[in-house]
Amino acid sequence: CFCKLKGQIDDCSCSVDTVDHFNNAKVFPRLISLLEKDYFRFYKVNLKKECPFWADDSRCSMRTCHVKTCHEDDIPLGLKGHDLHDENMAVKYLKASPDSDDENECIEDDLDPELGFLNTTISDLAYKGFELWQAYDDSQENFCTLPDEDGDAQYVDLSLNPERYTGYKGSSAHRIWRSIYMENCFRPKESYSDYIRSSMLNDLCLEKRVFYRVISGLHTSINIHLCSNYLFSAKNLLSRDSDFENWGHNLEEFKRRFNPEYTDKEGPQWLKNLYFLYLLELRAVAKAAPFLTKAKYYTGNDEEDGETEVAIKDLLSIVRSFPDHFDESSMFSGGQQALKLKEEFRQHFKNITRIMDCVGCEKCKLWGKLQVQGLGTALKILFSGKFDRATHTEPSYVNRSFQLERSEIVALFNALGRLSTSIHEIEVFRQMMR
Ligand code: FAD
Repeated sequence: CFCKLKGQIDDCSCSVDTVDHFNNAKVFPRLISLLEKDYFRFYKVNLKKECPFWADDSRCSMRTCHVKTCHEDDIPLGLKGHDLHDENMAVKYLKASPDSDDENECIEDDLDPELGFLNTTISDLAYKGFELWQAYDDSQENFCTLPDEDGDAQYVDLSLNPERYTGYKGSSAHRIWRSIYMENCFRPKESYSDYIRSSMLNDLCLEKRVFYRVISGLHTSINIHLCSNYLFSAKNLLSRDSDFENWGHNLEEFKRRFNPEYTDKEGPQWLKNLYFLYLLELRAVAKAAPFLTKAKYYTGNDEEDGETEVAIKDLLSIVRSFPDHFDESSMFSGGQQALKLKEEFRQHFKNITRIMDCVGCEKCKLWGKLQVQGLGTALKILFSGKFDRATHTEPSYVNRSFQLERSEIVALFNALGRLSTSIHEIEVFRQMMR
């Protein structure tokens, strides 16, 4: 039975059983409770960007595709750029200043206002210059376009917009998948159906196989979520009325997609690609662990932020204890040719991030963008070279040259959370089949 998926995961040194056990018992429960924290729940995204490749399809108007964005008041203050520690200090200072003591007066006297202004301007400029250079330097290493921080970007509370069945299908969805596989996946064959046949994969070099596997793994994960959170009610999806909705696991839909009798024997291979992608992202998190341990998970709520830091440390120690991590060192090793291939790899991946703006269903676009950004962050950690020293826990490791934006960290953990949930859901389907 295809649901007793077993054996080695291609291009990795561990088995499906090992991953199932490690994920379901250890990673999944911790990751799910971590992702409920405010720091990870709120994600800023621009869902209004124009599709750069073709005239937009008609937008999906079904209520299942709708994304509920945050009201300004819902967003934690710390995420809106308020540093509550600084503000508290400022309030304290202001309160203290009316009866200012000698020490404060002395500091005032020592300051030449003009020189002080000049000094701060010069250091501000130097800092800005450094930041610009740093941003340029980082963008050269990125696998994604930069996070959406522009005018149309809005915060979304992910817990209020779960990834699940939306009804998005047909030519629009197929066009997205086809253009991802055909135009951006190193296309070894002329036709789509030829391309997705696993037997063809052996003709590809390791790096190109990896590229295909991660995309196929992502596709598998998205489709598992729609099967395990399926809408059974027969109500009209165009209506805003969501009463009496009936959501649950749809075993028949799962079988239709992954049972070899339906899918020309590719289904089990697609499931294995999900495990492959999971191992790749798990390795990225393990590799960046020294950075992630020291990062600040600041939302302005001290109690919750403290809990988030403890939960992160706990999860990272579990992730690092995994014995059979994906080995990225065998990729892109071999002079000029390898560098060229790496650049191609990056360009193809960046293209996929742009294709996400063409997805016709808002909810699918939200989760597609988030997961692609998470995957891009994982690729940056694995292949930019900037995180290579992360395996040694030296304090100097956490310096400005290893920067991850908050949105990258949020996307990385949420993307891993989606894969971890999919692997957990496969176990649920296995039990339903039994
Ligand atoms: P599709 O999944 O559209 O696949 C097209 C073809 O690709 C298949 O016929 C098969 O030959 C091949 N294929 C299928 N799976 C794989 C794989 N894992 N690896 C390689 N090849 C494969 N729908 C929702 O209900 N909820 C969502 O949140 C959602 N998010 C989406 C996000 C994105 C970015 C996209 C592009 C689509 C999303 N969809 C979502 C739509 C969903 O993925 C399917 O496209 C839709 O359900 C139609 O399915 P299908 O059976 O026609 O085959």
